[in-house]
Amino acid sequence: MSRTRRMPYAQQRPQDLGGGVWSVPVPIPGNPLGYTLVYALESPAGPVLVDAGWNHPDAWEALSGGLGALGLDVTSVRGVVVTHFHPDHAGLAGRVRQESGAWIAMHEADAALVELMNGLSDDAHRDFQSEMLRRAGASAGEVAAVDGGGPAGDDPAPAERQAPAIPDRRLRDGDLVDLPGRKLRAVHTPGHTPGHICLHLEDADRLFTGDHVLPDITPHIGIYPYDRDDVDPLGDFLESLDRVNELGSLDALPAHEWIFPDVAARAVEIRHHHEEKLERLHAQLSEVAEPPTIWETAAMMTWNRPWADLPAMLRGMAAGEAAAHLRTLEARGAIRRVPGVVPVRFQALES
Ligand SMILES: [Zn+2]
Ligand SMILES: [Zn+2]
Repeated sequence: MSRTRRMPYAQQRPQDLGGGVWSVPVPIPGNPLGYTLVYALESPAGPVLVDAGWNHPDAWEALSGGLGALGLDVTSVRGVVVTHFHPDHAGLAGRVRQESGAWIAMHEADAALVELMNGLSDDAHRDFQSEMLRRAGASAGEVAAVDGGGPAGDDPAPAERQAPAIPDRRLRDGDLVDLPGRKLRAVHTPGHTPGHICLHLEDADRLFTGDHVLPDITPHIGIYPYDRDDVDPLGDFLESLDRVNELGSLDALPAHEWIFPDVAARAVEIRHHHEEKLERLHAQLSEVAEPPTIWETAAMMTWNRPWADLPAMLRGMAAGEAAAHLRTLEARGAIRRVPGVVPVRFQALES
């Protein structure tokens, strides 16, 4: 994620947001993002949570204690609907299910990824990643550095890297979540992950946006493996922003940062940000003498720190983001990949 400013965890408190909705900030230990905002929605059959937070003892304390401070009991939670499979959202869902017997619901596309992750060994994951980095043009030293997790502090402890719990329920676009007496509808917003959903509380004009639309930062949009040409996550993300825009000026309840009004306006702003980035990248590709690799493209682009100062793991994420932008330009017919070369290289087409 790119960032400009953040609110420290200490300034966030469990809150009653009115209308049978509460928020609990759940810390993400060692992560500059700070916290996940977990929301609880009232129902006669027990509260339903939107996301659960990072799987860590401190995070569990914050979630169960925060719900308790609001007069809610974590053992009475009816269900957890997860906006996407990332560990700062799905991580604690399994623990909540264990304590309360809650169901876990997720979009079917992310549920499929969770099943894949549960079946993948650490070694298999590392091999997949090394091969991907090589094909993207990373040097042997950089491949080793990314695999090693880079400098201390960038890589979560292995126990926290474990795959999320497999959900009991799979959602599709337009499905109503099992929340008795209320209307909470899944809006499929792929991009940040293939199965990301926003949740529209239709009886209150509120939209739980997960990581899709945040008030200040923008979510990471990558493509894995970097050189695949059968999907277009950034193209999907831009369409998902249009989708949210069409819902109108709802209040946004995001999973990070803070609650904000008029989700439609912010969706337009983020789309504009990416269109500018795409235009800039296309112009750069038109000027270079040799078609660059994905890794060289990432080094050319602007990040929140100079490329030379980015730790290895963040370079890997930047390469994923560069690859997603290249893929969108390719899908639009503005660039093409040079045929038959490894690592893959991209060149601008005359428009
Ligand atoms: Zn995420
Ligand atoms: Zn997140």
